Amino acid sequence: MWANVAKTTLKAAAATTAVTGVYIVSYPMFVKKRSEKIVVVGGGTAGIGVAAMLQNEGLKNVTIVEPSNKHYYQPLWTLVGGGLASGEASVKDMKDVIPKGTDWIAKKVNTFNPEKNSVTLDDGSSIDYDYLVVAAGMQTDWDAIPGLQEGLEQPDSGVVSVYHPKYCTKTWETFHRIKSNPATYLFTFPPTVLKCAGAPQKIMWILEDTLRKEGKRDGADLTFCTPGGAMFGVKHYSDKLEKIRIERGVNAAFKHKLIAIDPARKIATFLDLDTNKKVQKSFDMLHVSAETYVHQFLQLVSFHAVLMSDLSTTFHQVGPHMSAPAFLRNSPISDSAGWVDVDKHTLKSTKYDNIFGLGDCTNTPNSKTAAAVTSQAPVVVHNIERSIDKLPLDGMYSGYASCPLVIARNKVMLAEFGYGGKLAETFGPDGKFPHRLLGTDGEIPHRFFFFLKETIFPYVYWNLWTKGWWYGTNGPLKPNVKIDIEGSK
Ligand SMILES: Cc1cc2nc3c(=O)[nH]c(=O)nc-3n(C[C@H](O)[C@H](O)[C@H](O)COP(=O)(O)OP(=O)(O)OC[C@H]3O[C@@H](n4cnc5c(N)ncnc54)[C@H](O)[C@@H]3O)c2cc1C
Repeated sequence: MWANVAKTTLKAAAATTAVTGVYIVSYPMFVKKRSEKIVVVGGGTAGIGVAAMLQNEGLKNVTIVEPSNKHYYQPLWTLVGGGLASGEASVKDMKDVIPKGTDWIAKKVNTFNPEKNSVTLDDGSSIDYDYLVVAAGMQTDWDAIPGLQEGLEQPDSGVVSVYHPKYCTKTWETFHRIKSNPATYLFTFPPTVLKCAGAPQKIMWILEDTLRKEGKRDGADLTFCTPGGAMFGVKHYSDKLEKIRIERGVNAAFKHKLIAIDPARKIATFLDLDTNKKVQKSFDMLHVSAETYVHQFLQLVSFHAVLMSDLSTTFHQVGPHMSAPAFLRNSPISDSAGWVDVDKHTLKSTKYDNIFGLGDCTNTPNSKTAAAVTSQAPVVVHNIERSIDKLPLDGMYSGYASCPLVIARNKVMLAEFGYGGKLAETFGPDGKFPHRLLGTDGEIPHRFFFFLKETIFPYVYWNLWTKGWWYGTNGPLKPNVKIDIEGSK
């Protein structure tokens, strides 16, 4: 009932925003129309949102280059894997989310020619631009672990992943197909940058809670296997999660990196990073997080140190990284690891004044989430306008990211932080909605945060974000992007 009430309220809010928001943001009398040609590479969360915001700001000559005919709201995949949402709710046809008035070229970008202000597409044709926005996401390497692809494809292997629309559906199906009672469940974390670093344990907590509710928890053996030395990259939340882990009887295999899977025998092989020895674990169900592949240099890194410091920064610094999309590697706009090289605050290319980047594909050391993108998009739009007006760029991204850590079928711990793990809780004592109003703050698992994650955020995504009317923690109100970044520098 509450979900329906919320949806009705949101519909009214969306309609109001359609009138008031657009009036403020893009009514022709108020916005300066501009003719500069802007090409956006990628029509995922970042590409669609930024293109819509550009349109609303009067930048009417926008072209999106995106090869896929489907658009996904990936944050729902964890809930799909845990039987809390349908796969269909996470996807729409690309044509239905391309912002009105924007051109869509359904091709891949193959190469960047920044000296000529053009990109070359996979059919050999080129398009010119005045400004380029790169939002091409992160690449998933399913072949990184021997046996992974095979295991994911076999219906009875027990190998699953919420990092793919097909395999997240398999996750819930497999969970219910397991015959052994009690059963053994392994959940792995990769040794690389990954999008939504909380997802590998969110699915674990949801399934653990389901076992309790279905009366199958007694004797069930659940282990969180991670090359790191802690549950999460930000100590504040990690300490709390560690307490929950112990209370709920979940095992941890810290400093354990998945290196091979034998799906037929249901055995996973790990490298124990402390002893450098191989360890085998049998499973009934194995959840693998996608970007789990070996990089020699990473083996030398102290993962404890990595997880306790700024995780993304360290991983981006350690050398060539396979998960930047292939076409970005060795491109003139990328760093040596293949990520789009941008200033971490202005999001402008470090090499080219008319190129900007946002989302999972850049080398900014933030946690890679859609929430981060909602903070980045207004900065990019603002700075492009400043650049057109030949003014110094003063839009600054603080590194904000949020990770709604689903720790039960109805509770979420809302982790929100900026660069360097600096807390930025919307509902914390210093947040936009101080905790006294709600009687909670981010680190306390709460039904209200689950309600946001399950009902509000998907609704807002499809109805406001894809239209350029949503600004993350600022809701439908345009934020002041000229923030004081001294603390986060
Ligand atoms: C399981 C899971 C759970 C998550 N949970 C959360 C969560 O709870 N909260 C949260 O905030 N975030 C979450 N995220 C992360 C969030 O979904 C991503 O950070 C977000 O989608 C990043 O947006 P993006 O546009 O950079 O990348 P994407 O949305 O992946 O889009 C990239 C686009 O680029 C296109 N592209 C690729 N190559 C080319 C090319 N050569 N030319 C043109 N286009 C190209 C792709 O087709 C794609 O459409 C989750 C992600 C996953 C997988």
